[in-house]
Amino acid sequence: ENVLSQPNNKPNDKLLGGLLAAGFDEASCTSRYQSSLYRKTSIHKPSSYLISRLRKYEDLHKRCGPSTESYNRALQQLKSGQTIGSPDCNYLVWISFSGLGNRMLALASTFLYALLTNRVLLVDRGKDMADLFCEPFPEKSWLLPMDFPIIDQFETFDQKSSHSYGNMLKNNVINASTESVPSFIYLHLVHDYDDHDKLFFCHEDQSLLAKVPWLIIKTNNYFVPSLFLITPFEQELSKLFPEKGTVFHHLGRYLFHPSNHVWGLITRYYHTYLAKADESIGIQIRVFDSRPGPFKHVMDQVLACTLKEKLLPEVDMQDSVVTISENPKLKAVLVTSLNSGYSENLKNMYWEHPTLTGEVVGIYQPSDEGYQQMEKQMHNRKAWAEMYLLSLTDALVTSSWSTFGYVAQGLGGLKPWILYKPENETAPDPPCRRAMSMEPCFHAPPFYDCKAKKGTDTGTIVPHVRHCEDMSWGLKVV
Ligand code: GDP
Repeated sequence: ENVLSQPNNKPNDKLLGGLLAAGFDEASCTSRYQSSLYRKTSIHKPSSYLISRLRKYEDLHKRCGPSTESYNRALQQLKSGQTIGSPDCNYLVWISFSGLGNRMLALASTFLYALLTNRVLLVDRGKDMADLFCEPFPEKSWLLPMDFPIIDQFETFDQKSSHSYGNMLKNNVINASTESVPSFIYLHLVHDYDDHDKLFFCHEDQSLLAKVPWLIIKTNNYFVPSLFLITPFEQELSKLFPEKGTVFHHLGRYLFHPSNHVWGLITRYYHTYLAKADESIGIQIRVFDSRPGPFKHVMDQVLACTLKEKLLPEVDMQDSVVTISENPKLKAVLVTSLNSGYSENLKNMYWEHPTLTGEVVGIYQPSDEGYQQMEKQMHNRKAWAEMYLLSLTDALVTSSWSTFGYVAQGLGGLKPWILYKPENETAPDPPCRRAMSMEPCFHAPPFYDCKAKKGTDTGTIVPHVRHCEDMSWGLKVV
């Protein structure tokens, strides 16, 4: 369906049903005001409570953000290392870490944690955060000032760091009855975190952390599912998200607006290849293998899934269909992959043979970058543009374990068909399954019952936090 042919004039839609605040300079971030022209209106409405909490957060951010009096005062505390009295603003600093999809999920989780704990979120810009995204909050920047006192230590923060919450507990530097808390604590929530670090997800530990003015977090995980299991957050979360499986959908659309450069990549591609189609399908092919590919078993799996689920039409190998209608339906397939082999194969198949449905199928792949590249500016711009383009399609096929696909499905409000992870170089049977919800999967959740102080299966405690379709030990909100 051509979304551009149905102009979206409802004024409220421009701001996504009130999710976005008014009053930004439109030219500085075109995507914020134009996204509604490219997306169908979401059938999932943000709750009025979420909207009011976001406006409240924006006020807090304005009052406490960089270069305000409160910020400067909190900075003095950080420098002196002492916490005297309760400061008027508490902060949560997010360290830029890992691939782009991982970063976006981590940042959305961190923002939700900031909302739940009334902290001000500040974002370490890393190599390219400022280049990829617009400012999400009015008036005051979300970027951490470059002269932040301990910014040089961010790279060295890891599992062994003496400033980490886990190590402070282990070394008895702090405990639940500690009176004077340090001015900052590093939260190590990266996949290699240990049992002490994981106590972050316990109620008691949250009470202690609440007293610390500066929390500095490094994570490559979507840890939202485990926030749903922390008792004091439960009620607030169900008010914020009465429809539970929409957390990333709303927070992602609220936070992540492509910068003008990236918006150019998205809109030029969209108009050139996707806008004219009657229907569009996104296929995200992420192969976790050190060899370059393409692999036959992956191609077989993509075909088995898309044909079985009727996402793509079958072709007539006998070429018995000779005539084509004057105005055939056009199906556009957007393939994203580091390798060009899969889309070339599909393109040939639909050129060499007619479809049984009489449709014509266009196959488009914006880039084939070969391998993940960390430091190149255009590389991540393209990665972000591709996640966004996937989110604009009518139906989506994604790869297991990939946060790149999670971002696309969440922003698009799409429940994807997930390609199971191949084992031993064979296409799994069944090749794919439909996701339970559009939420991302938390790949490294804790399995601990804080009250009983023993291990437990955190995927069976409440009905809305379950194990993921694509990773049996992961957790997702449904
Ligand atoms: P994940 O590793 O699949 O969970 O996703 P991440 O986004 O965290 O890291 C993968 C990185 O590899 C991306 O950020 C890109 O830099 C690159 N990448 C992987 N797949 C693609 C793709 O289909 N297109 C582009 N442009 N880059 C990709």
